[in-house]
Amino acid sequence: MGNESESLSNFIEDIIGNDIRNNKNGGNVVTRFPPEPNGYLHIGHAKSICLNFGLAKKFNGRCHLRFDDTNPVKEDIEYIHSIQEDVTWLGFDWGEHLHYASDYFEKLYQYALELIKSGKAYVCSLNADDIRKYRGTLTEPGRDSPYRNRSVEENQELFVNMKNGTFSDGEHVLRAKIDMSSGNLNLRDPALYRIRKTSHHRTGDAWCIYPMYDFTHCLSDSIEEITHSICTLEFENNRPLYDWVLNELNTPCHPQQIEFARLSLTHTIMSKRKLLQLVQEGRVSGWDDPRMPTISGLRRRGYTPESIRDFCDRIGVARSDSVVEHAALESCIREDLNKRAMRAMAVLNPLKVIIENYPRDLTEELDAVNNPEDPEMGSRKILFSREIFIEEEDFMENPPKKFFRLFPGQEVRLKHAYYVTCTGFRKDEKTGKVTEVHCTYDPATKGGWSQDGRKVKGTLHWVSASHFTSGDVRLYDHLFSVPNPEGDSSGKVFTDFINPDSLMVIKDAVLEKGLAGAAPGDRYQFERQGYFCADIKDSVPGKPVFNRTVQLRDSWAKIMKSGKENE
Ligand code: ATP
Ligand code: MG
Repeated sequence: MGNESESLSNFIEDIIGNDIRNNKNGGNVVTRFPPEPNGYLHIGHAKSICLNFGLAKKFNGRCHLRFDDTNPVKEDIEYIHSIQEDVTWLGFDWGEHLHYASDYFEKLYQYALELIKSGKAYVCSLNADDIRKYRGTLTEPGRDSPYRNRSVEENQELFVNMKNGTFSDGEHVLRAKIDMSSGNLNLRDPALYRIRKTSHHRTGDAWCIYPMYDFTHCLSDSIEEITHSICTLEFENNRPLYDWVLNELNTPCHPQQIEFARLSLTHTIMSKRKLLQLVQEGRVSGWDDPRMPTISGLRRRGYTPESIRDFCDRIGVARSDSVVEHAALESCIREDLNKRAMRAMAVLNPLKVIIENYPRDLTEELDAVNNPEDPEMGSRKILFSREIFIEEEDFMENPPKKFFRLFPGQEVRLKHAYYVTCTGFRKDEKTGKVTEVHCTYDPATKGGWSQDGRKVKGTLHWVSASHFTSGDVRLYDHLFSVPNPEGDSSGKVFTDFINPDSLMVIKDAVLEKGLAGAAPGDRYQFERQGYFCADIKDSVPGKPVFNRTVQLRDSWAKIMKSGKENE
């Protein structure tokens, strides 16, 4: 993986490049992103968005946002809004080209009549079960419907009456007349229209018949003069039908469908139906729960649009399915935040340290660089005093070998402050828990550097016990505890793999005072703890709530376990 992949072209770019050279479509490139508004967008959709909008940009074309809103039962205006917000947030602009398949309902209806007229579509009155039985299987050809040879006039009349609401749901469907013995099941007289007496979020009660995906999609593409209709591999077997419809009808143009591999990520699920189930069953706090793979969840978690675009660039576009490690996504955000996030100190599990030789009434302002990667981000003042908090786990009474943090007799660096040496500690007799650590400091090490070249192996973060702000901190782990939670042959379903420890809330963590001013959405690196983002819903200045976006390194847990530590 590397940034050089940006300049490498993928197979779709090669196809388009060729088309332009051959002056196909007059050299134009028009793509579209066609979500069905039945859920929130997820990281898989981001791949498709980056691809479609990215191609348009690269080839000076345009990309439409089209809502594929043909199923009123599952769709909702809330999803329409969230999808637009997410595409915009990712950094893409459809300009004037916001479209809805439902805007084409009248045109699609006329096309259906045209097909009936040319004897290429018929009204079938088998019920759903019988249609399935007549369809056959992969190994057995289907059988013709007894209604297949209705006359054009009869079909016209029935279809008009379907539209007029004369029949109830399921009584009839309009089907394409193709080939019941085709090896491709999609060509065995697929349904084009069904009756659904449901109002639509945009067309209200104007229609009670709704066109099916395979009929709508190709025609919507053609109406919008899309040149390259890019979709995921599961539509490969629908391509012959896509082409059949456009060949049979007199349409403005015939876009080329091209399939690519969908994105799958370890430790997560990408099906909108399953994501909806997590929301509906209250297993997460909503579509934008920071553990969700949705764009809104990632945004709330602290991901940047740049990091998601970078991720999509790096995974590339291929023709065969593969599963990408979740760690690859994490590495993109880590890299981005390393460059842009302000550093700060936060103690999540505080243990008090008393610096015995530090004046009782002194408070010092020390300089702390805001981001060592970017000098332009400047520095800030942090307050140091006689009593400070360090992380509980940074002290051990009886440390194992290679524990370079604090223990009796050991000297460590307090980041940006001083060297301190542990002189003793107090323990709660009953619980055995260390309640307080005592140290002395070396005034000659101000800033955290010794002048005599004396080295220490451990550097700890800390916050003054007299100057801090408290806030809640949420630590996240994968929502699913196994790499592939899609369910398996043992009969387990995806909800069986939900990680019970995917969210840990730390109440009243001790935060560097300046963090009181964090605005919702502000991102920080808490030294040694990872990257955090002030929650865009729950954080308020003065009482911040931080979500951990990602840890500093994913190998941290392993390092801790093996006892090898280099800090
Ligand atoms: P469903 O059809 O089950 O509701 P979907 O995820 O296919 O779910 P759509 O709204 O149809 O949802 O998706 C819009 C576009 O995003 C489609 O072109 C689809 O191919 C693409 N897309 C969806 N999931 C992925 C994925 N995991 N990786 C890449 N592209 C995807
Ligand atoms: Mg779909």
